[in-house]
Amino acid sequence: MRVLVVEDDKGIAEGLAAHLGRTGHAVDCLPAIATAWSALCSEPYDVVLLDLGLEDGDGTVLLRRLREAPGGRLPDPATPVLIMTARDQVASRIEGLDLGADDYLTKPFDPDELAARMRALRRRLAGRAQPTLRHGDIEIDPAARTVSRAGRPVDLSAREFSVLLALMEARPHVLSRPQIEAKLYNFDSVLESNAIEVHVHKLRRKLGDTLVRTVRGVGYYVPAEPEPGA
Ligand code: CA
Repeated sequence: MRVLVVEDDKGIAEGLAAHLGRTGHAVDCLPAIATAWSALCSEPYDVVLLDLGLEDGDGTVLLRRLREAPGGRLPDPATPVLIMTARDQVASRIEGLDLGADDYLTKPFDPDELAARMRALRRRLAGRAQPTLRHGDIEIDPAARTVSRAGRPVDLSAREFSVLLALMEARPHVLSRPQIEAKLYNFDSVLESNAIEVHVHKLRRKLGDTLVRTVRGVGYYVPAEPEPGA
């Protein structure tokens, strides 16, 4: 999952980035409305974590601008936004929710609670009530970051898991290589040109050939229904 942290407190931003990075997220941190807006215009974020008191103004300005974006291109006005507020900022929190924030957390908060709320947001956006994703005999648990096949655990690397989760969430739509890369790597990542191919190759070896399909020159997808007998 690609996450944008908009927070001007360097300590908080770095702490969040470290924790989310360890749990397989690609995180960019920006301290101001202007730079965050540029990032939203260039990268397809899955979630925005938004502080309200920013260097160049109130975070609600960014939220309002995002929700009023025309859509059909970046920034995506439907991007889930979770606001992070101080305990005494009740009025701002209400304003934020009314402006279209999806959830909020009161600082200081437990990063594990944040991660759980982010998963809930993604579920809601995908119209899914169940916490796990299934495809034939393959089951994915985004909370535990585990995968099983026919009830047996399958060992995936963090990046392989992220590729699989992105394709499962998008199913049956095709994701291009840049779209998958955008979910896995932040601005600072150094990318091998064939990284995604390598992850897909490993996924096929571990989970069978019929799960992840290639559309030559376009990208990859997981079909809506598993292959009969697969
Ligand atoms: Ca702040």
